[in-house]
Order: sequence, then C-alpha cells, then structure tokens
Amino acid sequence: MTTDSVSPVTTNFLRNIIEADLSAQRFAGKLWAGQPGPASVQAAGSPDPAKIRTRFPPEPNGYLHIGHAKSICLNFGLARDYGGVCHLRFDDTNPEKEEQEYVDGIIDAVKWLGFNWQSNGSEHLFFASDYFGVMYDCALALIQAGHAYVDEQSPEQMRTMRGTLTEAGQNSPWRERPASDSTRLLNEMREGKHADGSMALRAKIDMASPNINLRDPVLYRIRHATHHRTGNQWCVYPMYAFAHPIEDALEGITHSICTLEFEDQRPFYDWTLNRLNELGKLAAPLPHQYEFARLNMSYIVTSKRKLLQLVKEGHVTGWDDPRMPTIVGLRRRGYTPEALRLFCERTGVSKNNARIDYSLLDQALREVQDPVAPRCVAILDPLKLVITNFPAGQVEPCQAPRNPHDPEVGQRQFGFTRELWIEQEDFAEVPPPKYFRLFPGNSVRLKYGYVVTCTGFTKDSSGKVTEVHAEYHPDTKSGTAGSNAVKVKGTVTWISAAQAIPAEIRLYDRLFSEPFPDAGDNDFLACLNPNSAQSVKAWLEPGTVATAGVVSQFERLGYFAVDSVDSTLERPVFNRVTTLKDTWAAGV
Ligand code: ATP
Ligand code: MG
Repeated sequence: MTTDSVSPVTTNFLRNIIEADLSAQRFAGKLWAGQPGPASVQAAGSPDPAKIRTRFPPEPNGYLHIGHAKSICLNFGLARDYGGVCHLRFDDTNPEKEEQEYVDGIIDAVKWLGFNWQSNGSEHLFFASDYFGVMYDCALALIQAGHAYVDEQSPEQMRTMRGTLTEAGQNSPWRERPASDSTRLLNEMREGKHADGSMALRAKIDMASPNINLRDPVLYRIRHATHHRTGNQWCVYPMYAFAHPIEDALEGITHSICTLEFEDQRPFYDWTLNRLNELGKLAAPLPHQYEFARLNMSYIVTSKRKLLQLVKEGHVTGWDDPRMPTIVGLRRRGYTPEALRLFCERTGVSKNNARIDYSLLDQALREVQDPVAPRCVAILDPLKLVITNFPAGQVEPCQAPRNPHDPEVGQRQFGFTRELWIEQEDFAEVPPPKYFRLFPGNSVRLKYGYVVTCTGFTKDSSGKVTEVHAEYHPDTKSGTAGSNAVKVKGTVTWISAAQAIPAEIRLYDRLFSEPFPDAGDNDFLACLNPNSAQSVKAWLEPGTVATAGVVSQFERLGYFAVDSVDSTLERPVFNRVTTLKDTWAAGV
C-alpha cells in the first residue's frame, strides 16, 4: 500500500467510528481462514491478522471515474492507516453488463492510484461470482427457516402489491406456501425450467414496513444470460441488495462503506446478515454498513450511462479522452496519482451532499507537482526574434534550474543563438499602458540569457509582424557579475530557433460550459463546451522531458504531460494538465 501520503491525515466520522471500534475491541476473537467463506470455513481459521477489513466493490460495467477514486482512496487509505486490509472485489452478480475489459481497466486504475490488495502474504482480489454457490445455499437456508418464499406473481403484480410511501403493501398469495414448495421451485428455477420473470425468490419480512426495502424484497431472479466468468452455469442470479451483505460477511469485512443512497438499504443489509448468522451460515462479528456523501464535482458528469453516451456518440475520443473525468482520462491528461490522492483527502468525508469545485483538483496537481516538476520553456505562439549584433552560427551556452525548489537536481543547458523564438504576445508594435515587454526602443531580459534592446521589426504585405529585431548587451548574461548592469522591467522567455524541438500541444478546457451540466432536467449534451480542445504547433526547449507519467512545468504556461497515446519520439505531443495559478513573475 502507498506510504507516501502527501498531506497530514484529517479526521472524519469514519475514522472516529473505527477508532472507537478498535478501542472497544469489537473484533476481538474474529477468525479468518485466509480466504473468504461461510461460518463453517471461518470457524477453522486463526485470529484475523487484519485489524479492520474494508473493500472497494466496483461493478465491472464501465471505466472508473474520479468518484470511484474517492472511494478507493477512502477504503484503501483507512485499511492502511489502521493496520487493516482492503479487498478489491468485483461485484459481478449482474450477468448482462459486465465485461473482462472493465475488470482489467479497474485493476489497472487501482494500481495506478498507488494501492494494492496484497497483505499478510496473500492477495485480496475477489469476485462476487465466486460466491454464487454459497449465496444459493443461503437462499435455501432462508426458505427452510421460513424467511423466504418463491413468488409466482409477475414483476408488474409485485410492483402494484408493494404499496407506496404512504400506503402499506399487500401480501402475495404465494407468501404462505410451504417451504418444501419454495425449495422445489427455487431448484427448478436454477435448473432452467422457468422463464425469466415467471417467478422470483423473495424474503418474507413485512409488507407493511414503512421502509419499502423491507417489503419482501426479491432475493433471486431468473436470468437466462451468459456471465463473463461463470458462463452458463447459472440462470438464477442474486439481487444486489441480497448479494452485497453476504459478500461482505464471507470476506470478513468489518466496515462496509458505501454512498448515501444506500442508507435505506441498511435495515435489509442487517436483516440478511442477522438471519444468516442465526442459521449458522455467516460468521460473527458481522459487517456494519456506513454511508458517506458521494463526490459531486462541478463541470463534469460521473454517471456511467452519461459517460458511455459521450464515448458512443463521439463527443469525446474515447474513455481516455483527456477531458473525461475517468481515471484513464485524468491519467492521460497528466493528473498524477499523488494529486488525485491529495484531492480525495482534501475533499473530506461527510454525510452532506456538496459540490466540489473542479479547481480543487487543479490546485492539488499544482501543489504536488510544483516541488518536483522539471521546468522548461515552450513557445506556443511563436514569433522570430533576431539578435542583429550576435554572430550567425555562434552558440552561447546558457543554463537554468531544472527545478528552482530543488538545487540538487542541477541545471539544464541550452544555447543562445542569433535567431530565437518568443511568444507573439511578448512583442507590441505600439505598447499598451504598463506593457514592459518588447517594443521598439525598450529593453527586456531574455530569461536566463541577456538583456536585449528592441531595434525594429519587419512586416509582411498583410501587415503582420514577421520578425522582431534587437541588439544584445554582451555584459548582461544571467548569472554573471554584470547581469544587473542594465535595469529592465520585463522578462521574456525564448528558445533558440536552431535548437528548438517542434511539438504539438493540446490545450484543454472544461468539457462543459455549465458548472452543473446534468442538474435537474438539464440536457448535459446541450452544454458541451465547443472549445474544450485546441491544438497548437509549438516549439520546445531542447531536452524537454518527454517521458510518460512525468509532468513538466512549462514556464509561464502551466503543467504539461506527454500524451501517452499519440506522442512519438519524432513528434512529441503534450497535453496541458492545467495552467499556473500564479501570474508569472519577472525574474532573472
Ligand atoms: P452504477 O452502480 O450505477 O453502475 P456506481 O458509480 O455506483 O455506478 P460501482 O461500480 O457500483 O459504480 O461503484 C463502486 C464503488 O464506488 C461503490 O462502493 C460506490 O459507492 C463508489 N462510488 C461510485 N461513485 C462514487 C462517487 N461519486 N463518490 C464516491 N464513491 C463513489
Ligand atoms: Mg453501484
């Protein structure tokens, strides 16, 4: 597990609960057989070496997004901090939407975020589908004990009989059938003798409960569908609400953390665990469910359905489009695992649904990268500057810190030559007020180079400035005794035209132009930002680091990362992760 936590841990209600549980020794005597299993298996185990067990339980039906990153950081982070273990569990009980491609993507994303599921010498990577046999056995036990029955009503009839928030439901005519009938029918369902939707196994709880989730919820349904791991072995599948508590208990989970929508499901979660514990199927201590507010962020959507729609309809180039809030998208854009972890930690854990501003993510990236990012100069909108008193063919070596916060990493080297590239915006034919950069007669420092004085410029027939001319002052080289001899108010970045490396730079903006693209009845596609991606041909300083996963700071411009998909050695492509927050300060 990751140890390089980037910020001091702040406490939250989940940490308080865990600390109270540990000091009350709530898990004393808990056994662990070294693998998930029912009470009979765990009884033969040893005292659990993990102080707590949490899990991250994604359904492999899509790519993970930044909301999942929050859940990953929370679950793996709590386990790390309290001497526990976090399981990665694929909640693959729904045969229809799940695919191996997503399983692989999820494994990759969790690892990339800096977490793993090895502990005490073993792997804790599990698939809920491996528990289908135990779940089925639990269902039979509930029938035997009078806690479940097979209902032959149609799904529509069940819905009508369920009642409403203000009206009690009505008992199914099949509710009191003998357990032996239900057992026979469940076995027939499993053998494939009945059609999808013709019957279902239901819990027998209370059709008048004020909590609709307790009105005899469905436990098992018939689905003649091929599952990505179990193939055609099963044609009955457990419902999520029944499967989830069993999965948690089989894995000895102590703290089952989920998002607030599941609060109303907690009574059924506990009902399932308590009945199956009484029947000797699930070992105590039983898991507890805790809910926290999901991460909601401005300027993005996180619904898997909407993300899929963006991909399918071609509004983005794929799941890993650098504008997507998916982990693969954020990664390709250049957000680092450290920045995501800091962001997740900073945004806290609470019971209140709040929107987090997207800028917090950029702020986290800047904070994490500023101390380590290699610096370089890039010119995105180039204009030629000719130093008329500097001989053609001559190269004056110059240097600059690789990272001004870390002298240990040394200096980068590049040459000063007669022809340079500067930014268009660093020259004005007629300077606006308070303009301290190049204009005829003005002097500026070429950062890490010399002080130059602008002597003129040339234009093409359309009136566009094609070249700026200047003379350099030979005694003013940065880092030499005379560097302060000529006082200037402005500093300009530059790259030797002879040494500059051509590159494509992709400048990204928010994918949506509204802060809450899918709030209320909003059509999120209607507020797609038409200018969210822009590509420019630019010049880079020689020696610019073009290594995947390294985020550089392009001076004055922001943080940039090489595009892992399109970049080549001959033709580097960089994505702008985010701009620099601080306005660029003039300096030598
Ligand atoms: P769906 O269930 O609609 O497919 P989901 O986003 O809930 O989508 P899961 O694969 O079930 O996807 O999620 C895995 C885990 O991630 C769950 O425990 C869920 O609570 C958590 N999670 C999902 N979205 C967020 C979010 N925005 N903030 C925090 N946790 C989240
Ligand atoms: Mg879910």
